[in-house]
Amino acid sequence: MKQRDRLRIAAQKSGRLSEAGRDLMARSGLRFRESRDRLFCYGEVEPVDLLLVRDDDIPGLIAEGVCDLGIVGRNVLLEQQLEYVQRGEVAPFQELRRLGFGRCRLALAVPSEFVYQDPTSLAGCRIATSYPALLSDWLRKQDVQAEVVTLSGSVEIAPKLGKADLICDLVSTGATLAANQLREVATLLESEAVLAAPAELMLDDRQTIVDRLIKRLDGVLQVRD
Ligand code: ATP
Ligand code: ZN
Repeated sequence: MKQRDRLRIAAQKSGRLSEAGRDLMARSGLRFRESRDRLFCYGEVEPVDLLLVRDDDIPGLIAEGVCDLGIVGRNVLLEQQLEYVQRGEVAPFQELRRLGFGRCRLALAVPSEFVYQDPTSLAGCRIATSYPALLSDWLRKQDVQAEVVTLSGSVEIAPKLGKADLICDLVSTGATLAANQLREVATLLESEAVLAAPAELMLDDRQTIVDRLIKRLDGVLQVRD
């Protein structure tokens, strides 16, 4: 692959991680000139550019070598990591640092009439989720056989629509669950925004830029702790 001497960071264009992500980059000394389409932002102080994308695309952009770092939810990173593992491959990206914002959990939630005692209560149930790999992995570890119904959105209304018996979804305050008469019964994963990087070191000038950036980021994160 062509050697590059500038670093590229992928971050969410608009959503729950975009503001805190931009703030963290600013406090780590990064400044960007915004382009008209606001997808590619040129780094003005450091040789570090920013690509604004959908969060789900971030692990793939790192895997393809299009971006060198990414700010993404651990839930998205682990889901895509497990997709590789379930194919018998090694994921080409890894979690480098936890960033302390975007906290949420991947949890199971059941309708009020559902009797849940422990994971065995889920045997034979249909579970709606946008995280099929994480859910299947958890079910396998619990030794429970259940049907995973993959939905790309509006997971919380699946039980009411008769598409599933319960759901496995991201929860932060629990307000969405309450509004849909769902009760949280188990946590599969504690999540927050993380800094993602390739599984292997870069072989050109970019690794030096990464090392310098991580040092500054650690300073910023330490102040916050
Ligand atoms: P995109 O358009 O980039 O695909 P999205 O709708 O998939 O956006 P958001 O809803 O902005 O994504 O969520 C981004 C991340 O924020 C999640 O992957 C998760 O890590 C984190 N997050 C924190 N709290 C919540 C929550 N209550 N619900 C969903 N995600 C949350
Ligand atoms: Zn998304």
